[in-house]
Amino acid sequence: MSVKSVGLSDELHGYLLRFGVREPEILARLREETGRLPQRDMQIAPEQGSFMALLVELLQPRRCLEVGTFTGYSSLAVALALPDDGRVVCCDVSEEWTDIARRYWTEAGVQDLCELRLAPAIHTLDDLLAQGQRATFDFAFLDADKENYPGYYEQILELLRPGGLLLVDNVFWNGEVARPDVDEPAVRAVRALNQRIAADERVTVAMIPLADGLTLARKRG
Ligand code: CA
Repeated sequence: MSVKSVGLSDELHGYLLRFGVREPEILARLREETGRLPQRDMQIAPEQGSFMALLVELLQPRRCLEVGTFTGYSSLAVALALPDDGRVVCCDVSEEWTDIARRYWTEAGVQDLCELRLAPAIHTLDDLLAQGQRATFDFAFLDADKENYPGYYEQILELLRPGGLLLVDNVFWNGEVARPDVDEPAVRAVRALNQRIAADERVTVAMIPLADGLTLARKRG
């Protein structure tokens, strides 16, 4: 037995998908449609969707925030698990990608739960803060342009209530965060955020080796 996380062979990953993920049919279709786009790697893994849906069932958040919606897999997974009075504020800059998201939200009947903000997320988050929404969000998912990760983190932390949970995706950046020979803007930004969160006494933290690495940070009271 291993005391570190087991590396996932293709065989073991297939086993995980078969026995560890119960993907709703609509999410499977969205994943397949997104899989035909050149940017398909920006979609979260189905095992992440299941994990997020379970967290939402456990935590029962009412106000959720998503920075980086893309074609909607994560927001739909969250919205399907939310109570009827739950809401997800979805930030993205792409009309093309979020048109796909909106089509699936409507089909799933959660279009009223998902509030799309089509603008650079830095501005949307500033607007939310300016509108007095500081410390009002229960749950947040960060999965947007990596160069802005450290800035998004500070804004989201202000928007989360004490006890609220932030999930940060791609914290492994395909393993490159731990490779000293790799030095480009995205990996530098992800490293900077990982280092900041590790030392940040405002949050309780766990970095989970799920898909491309997922950090859970709970804002302390
Ligand atoms: Ca991602």
